[in-house]
Amino acid sequence: MLDFSLSEDQQAVKKMVRKFVDREIMPHIEKWDAEQHFETGIIEKMADLGLMGVCIPEEYGGQGMDYNTLAIVCAELERGDTAFRTAVSVHTALNSMTLLQWGDEFQKEKYLTPQAQGRKVGAYGLTEPNAGSDVAAIQTRAVKDGDSYILNGSKTWISLCDVADHILVFAKTSPDDGHRGISCFIVEREYPGVTTRGFKNKLGIRAGNTGEIFLENVRVPKVNLVGEEGEGFKIAMSALDNGRFSVAAGAVGLIDACIEACVKYANERETFGRPIGRHQLVQQMIAKMVAGFETSQLLVYRVGWMKNRGLRNTRETSLAKWYACDAAFNAAVDAVQIHGANGYSHEFSVERYMRNAKAPVIYEGTREIHQVMQGEYALGYRKDKELRKKLPEWPFEKEEVLS
Ligand SMILES: Cc1cc2nc3c(=O)[nH]c(=O)nc-3n(C[C@H](O)[C@H](O)[C@H](O)COP(=O)(O)OP(=O)(O)OC[C@H]3O[C@@H](n4cnc5c(N)ncnc54)[C@H](O)[C@@H]3O)c2cc1C
Repeated sequence: MLDFSLSEDQQAVKKMVRKFVDREIMPHIEKWDAEQHFETGIIEKMADLGLMGVCIPEEYGGQGMDYNTLAIVCAELERGDTAFRTAVSVHTALNSMTLLQWGDEFQKEKYLTPQAQGRKVGAYGLTEPNAGSDVAAIQTRAVKDGDSYILNGSKTWISLCDVADHILVFAKTSPDDGHRGISCFIVEREYPGVTTRGFKNKLGIRAGNTGEIFLENVRVPKVNLVGEEGEGFKIAMSALDNGRFSVAAGAVGLIDACIEACVKYANERETFGRPIGRHQLVQQMIAKMVAGFETSQLLVYRVGWMKNRGLRNTRETSLAKWYACDAAFNAAVDAVQIHGANGYSHEFSVERYMRNAKAPVIYEGTREIHQVMQGEYALGYRKDKELRKKLPEWPFEKEEVLS
């Protein structure tokens, strides 16, 4: 049976986050964006509201809500700004959900629990200067040394690099084995040899924190190896199943913001003696936004539904992410168009939406990578098998989570 309604809990979360965004983000975001300032106070406030671990079981410090509630949170946050949705995508979806799926009890207790409570911040370090889409080309090395690994290398374009306490770092333990030679480690910022450097002057998400992480002879205890040695590629990809879901959900929020801004402007601005909303070509641009919003939302909620049921969702997540991010970027470009010259100025938020909307078309799998994936699935060249570890189904069963 299909059910398109939100539960009472989901409606309450949506309302709460919308209010939070209107009160805590909207009044300051233009300034933070202009000053390229990442406001960590927002992370603390989101933690107080339980937003940093909304779909993590209560046993591990989270709110125990379903995966579509994460989508709702992401959509509402991105209505405010992509920076804070990106923070939740990285912290909750890419890092915490990966620990929930692949981590052992020690790792869940030591790292997942404080992250879900929002007391510690997590990041995800996969991309390197010479390896983005081509993950198997990463060069960061991890060499076993007694009860530890010694990590050397660098990561780039890492969201939250300057604020994260824990970083999931992917490194080669067996450099000759391609993607099978990659392993995943939890690296603490405080470990000697870890340094970071945030970027300035990005095109968009200027109110966010993104940059480089350098690892110089970093000693990581063996107990911080996530999954098995050589399992890192699978872990990285399954993390992206969650990250991409949250990115797609955020894109829905960005389209929502575009519609909100354009409906207001189109009813106020007049040309040729009537509001521009009365011109059919302006209506067409708004109609396309509405179609993008509704279609993307349906694709996202289907993925959340699959996650709740423990179904493998790589194909559906990739489609949702590709479609929603393209729709959001197109909506933002048209939103600028509807605002005419005013849209080309800092005075109106739509130019920020347009700059912000480009990054999600690039990160967590570029548009081209998702198109290739969808083509390969359709042609039968790509098939997914069950993974060794699954994300727990929702509602969370205590014994299931602890197994
Ligand atoms: C704001 C921002 C935040 C980010 N945050 C993180 C983060 O937190 N953690 C992290 O690990 N990474 C992060 N990234 C990095 C991001 O995931 C990579 O930029 C992305 O995977 C693409 O890699 P690349 O930039 O090296 O591009 P490349 O892989 O070099 O691709 C360049 C171009 O070639 C195309 N291309 C490549 N291969 C193919 C192919 N097989 N077929 C067709 N076209 C192809 C691409 O689509 C693209 O257009 C972030 C990036 C941005 C912009």
